[in-house]
Amino acid sequence: MKNVLLFSVTFFLLLFFTAFTAAQLHAQSVFDYEVHDTEREQPPIVDPGPAPAQPMPVPSDAIVLFDGSDFSHWVDSNGEEPQWLIENGYMEVVSRTGSIFSKEEFGDIQLYVEWATPEEIEGDGQGRGNSGVFFMNRYEIQVLDSYDNLTYPDGQAASVYAQYPPLVNASRAPGEWQSFNMIFRRPLFDPNGNLREPARVTVFHNNVLVHDNVPLIGPTGQSRAPYQMHEDKGPIRLQDHRDKVRFRNIWVRELPERRN
Ligand code: MG
Repeated sequence: MKNVLLFSVTFFLLLFFTAFTAAQLHAQSVFDYEVHDTEREQPPIVDPGPAPAQPMPVPSDAIVLFDGSDFSHWVDSNGEEPQWLIENGYMEVVSRTGSIFSKEEFGDIQLYVEWATPEEIEGDGQGRGNSGVFFMNRYEIQVLDSYDNLTYPDGQAASVYAQYPPLVNASRAPGEWQSFNMIFRRPLFDPNGNLREPARVTVFHNNVLVHDNVPLIGPTGQSRAPYQMHEDKGPIRLQDHRDKVRFRNIWVRELPERRN
């Protein structure tokens, strides 16, 4: 009888602590970690399946920002035609010609992008297939070759850069086409410039959920700078990080504003 009691008490204590620890883990915030904390757990690897043979179809109400043919929707930082390469239905970063910006500016959107890191592997960590997709020119979802290439979790492919690692690592091999399907909600400010609602983002990497409506703590970057009031709309930026990353099939759907 005594043994049964001891067993039951141990069992319930174990159950309690497991639940408690799980809740604690779940409640971890960005600020529990240093920027680029290498102690942060590596997201588990998920095989998303093979890349589709063709670019995915575009919804009828989407604004197509790149269909593989020209830079009509894009400028460089001088407002000129981007110096990136276009061939075979994709654009490719030309190192040191600078990041490029959508001419149209957006607030709340669904954004779809296909991208591929170089098939020929060069460099490692952040130096392998680095680029990025920025909302409103400020909030980066990282593009990186994270297939068999360890880096700090908050800087790997599909991370909200320096803030949130993806829930899982759904990367495909270098050279293969990958996709981001994303929902972005712009931050809201009161008339005095104080933050009323943080920006939020949901991201599917290769159809796998990697961010579920996470609140951004400010513009992405190593300084973790706080929000500064900005316009309701801003350009999408694609990053020149000196690697020959390719993009194709970029479209956006404007969303109704958040009500809160
Ligand atoms: Mg980047």
